[in-house]
Amino acid sequence: MPVDDIFRYAMYFENYGRRHDARNATRRLSADHNALRCLSCAAPCAAACPFDIPIRDKLLHFHTMLTT
Ligand code: SF4
Repeated sequence: MPVDDIFRYAMYFENYGRRHDARNATRRLSADHNALRCLSCAAPCAAACPFDIPIRDKLLHFHTMLTT
C-alpha cells in the first residue's frame, strides 16, 4: 500500500484545499493500491509503526474522504 502517497493526498485535501487534485491523484492509484484492501488485512503496519499511528484506520478514513 502506498501509505506515504495516500497520507500526502489527504494532506492536499485537508490542509491545502486542493480537493480536486487530491481526488484525481487518488483515482490514478492502481486497484492493487486501493485502501479497501486494508479491510481484509490483519494490519501488521500497526505494530510496525514506531509512533503508534493507526495506519489502517487512517487509510480507510482517507479513502472515504478522497473517493466520496
Ligand atoms: S492494513 Fe496496513 S499492512 Fe494491511 S494493506 Fe493496509 S496499510 Fe498495508
